[in-house]
Amino acid sequence: MQDQSDKITALQLRLTLAAAEAQRPASEVTLLAVSKTRTPEQVKHAVDCGLTSFGENYLQEALKKVAALKSLALDWHFIGPIQSNKTRQIAENFAWVHSIDRLKIAQRLSAQRPANMPPLNVCLQVNIDNEPTKAGFGSSELLQLVTEIARLPNLRLRGLMTIPEVRTDIQEQRIPFYQLGKLKDEINESLDNSQKLDTLSMGMSADLEAAILEGATIVRVGTDIFGPRSTTAG
Ligand SMILES: *Cc1c(COP(=O)(O)O)cnc(C)c1O
Repeated sequence: MQDQSDKITALQLRLTLAAAEAQRPASEVTLLAVSKTRTPEQVKHAVDCGLTSFGENYLQEALKKVAALKSLALDWHFIGPIQSNKTRQIAENFAWVHSIDRLKIAQRLSAQRPANMPPLNVCLQVNIDNEPTKAGFGSSELLQLVTEIARLPNLRLRGLMTIPEVRTDIQEQRIPFYQLGKLKDEINESLDNSQKLDTLSMGMSADLEAAILEGATIVRVGTDIFGPRSTTAG
């Protein structure tokens, strides 16, 4: 437990230093704690250390945690692969979805968002390195679909998310993040003022400095908050 609070303190220092180097206010960067495979107790401890936004990849696991921690009023973000038969439960239980990778998923989430909830904040996942095995829109496909998605009534299209190929050198890591920022700028030229994208969800434990230098507004961090995940649990 002490270990976890030390990790969070160290991570917050990294975020502050990276924002300073980028000459950006640290308040522009939200820390999303990726809590997949972690217990409700581990999440609760992270809340006691001041964190309020949590990201989950696996729906059944996430729903149990959301229910167990309901009294804490946390911001839950869905960041994992989305099957179309799971969209209703995602629309009913999350504040944000980062991993929309096809039009049909966006349409279903909008149709299934309960009327008594605020619009669902969404990011579109971009396969920025064009990896054949990875989910996400291609850049040109996205440019064609984005105005249609932005019009869906119960979604609020906030921005773009990406998981680039693993690179170790920080200058190399910056390249796909720079490209995602350019794509966001390009999309914003085609959207009305009230619809402009304000979010870049990019950067994880190993590359968050590079992401912040290129304009990340949400970094998604698991390992450097909670420690290594056991490989079997994902
Ligand atoms: C697991 C995961 C993360 C966190 O990765 P770490 O390397 O543990 O920080 C971030 N984003 C997504 C989409 C993930 O699945």
